[in-house]
Amino acid sequence: MFIMCTLKIPKTIIKEIDIFRKHCLWRGNDINSKRPPLIAWNSVTQRKVNGGLGVLRLETQNEALLIKFLHKFFNHSDLPWVHLIWNNYYLTRGLPGNRSVGSFWWKSIVKLLPNFKGLATPVIGNGRLISFWDDQWSQGIPRHIFPELFSFAKNSKMTIKEVKDQEQFHDLFHLPVSDQAFDQFLVLKGSWEQIILNNVHDRWKYIWGSDKFSSQKAYRSFMGQMQTHPIYKLVWKSKCQPKHRVFYWLWLKNRLNTRNMLRRRNMELDSYSCENCLWQREETLYHLFLRCNFAKACWNSIGITPPRISNPEEASVNLKHQLNVPFSMEITILMTWSIWKSRNEWLFSNRDPSVLRCTQEFSRELRLIIHRARGEFDTSIPNWLNLWQI
Ligand SMILES: [Zn+2]
Repeated sequence: MFIMCTLKIPKTIIKEIDIFRKHCLWRGNDINSKRPPLIAWNSVTQRKVNGGLGVLRLETQNEALLIKFLHKFFNHSDLPWVHLIWNNYYLTRGLPGNRSVGSFWWKSIVKLLPNFKGLATPVIGNGRLISFWDDQWSQGIPRHIFPELFSFAKNSKMTIKEVKDQEQFHDLFHLPVSDQAFDQFLVLKGSWEQIILNNVHDRWKYIWGSDKFSSQKAYRSFMGQMQTHPIYKLVWKSKCQPKHRVFYWLWLKNRLNTRNMLRRRNMELDSYSCENCLWQREETLYHLFLRCNFAKACWNSIGITPPRISNPEEASVNLKHQLNVPFSMEITILMTWSIWKSRNEWLFSNRDPSVLRCTQEFSRELRLIIHRARGEFDTSIPNWLNLWQI
């Protein structure tokens, strides 16, 4: 972690670390196991609000941590290294990113400049560290909103201060300019006239509405926000153990090793049919947990009719609604888990699938929730279990 906060970790090393992290996640501590992963690493490292498992993406985390140095530099923090770099390389002229200067460490930090600028907008002080063309000191970034005018600029790397020091605004351009560029010239000149420099250092404001830098917020922003089904949030909020929640996350993603999934993964099996019932239907997620006679009997024992919906996310919503108690999500997760456990005991330990044993397992797990919920369900869960006599 210390190295992550200080240096840019090479891609090859991140790859090596990820090999170990993947091994840990899918195969535990058996170093010789060759079990394949159940879901793409990309989904594992996606944030939970985006429907992922929330495992940190090291490269992004590394960048989010290192950008803190740019934050300190651009805000002139009173630190020896900031003074040193400033006095050595930028005191008289230039902006970081325009010239490649400094130690290998500083050069690697400066490479993250586009990421930093994606998060920060400047508040003009003395204008020394703000790029006239490339920073969003007014409405939008001038290079992007005035492209025709920019094509006539004499120097694309000037700071706000250098531009403001010009006697005439038109000195910045190769004259004459085109008609279109001239319209843009008038607009930009208006903004230029409004710039007032003072003697304090420039500051930077972040897209999260503060001038305090946060690596965590930077990480979140780099990872982006996606539309996801609201059920994921409820799963992570539930009081179930992490192993149950991860199991259910895989269930929602349809990534459990059901037999049809093993077929899709090109694994040779004697049969791809469900063994919990006599129907000889292909063992899909939908069949095993919702349509199979065994599963139906398990759900029926707690008053639920499994829905005829093959989308796991929507099926979960339906199950949850049927239950309509404050711990519906916990019930849904644990009953699904218990059905999966019965199926695996039958396949791997030759124990007949029995609805009674499945509901007993379910009831045992649900009672454990009472302790995890710290008082929230002290009476409601036992009452609910009594209602169904399990
Ligand atoms: Zn079946």
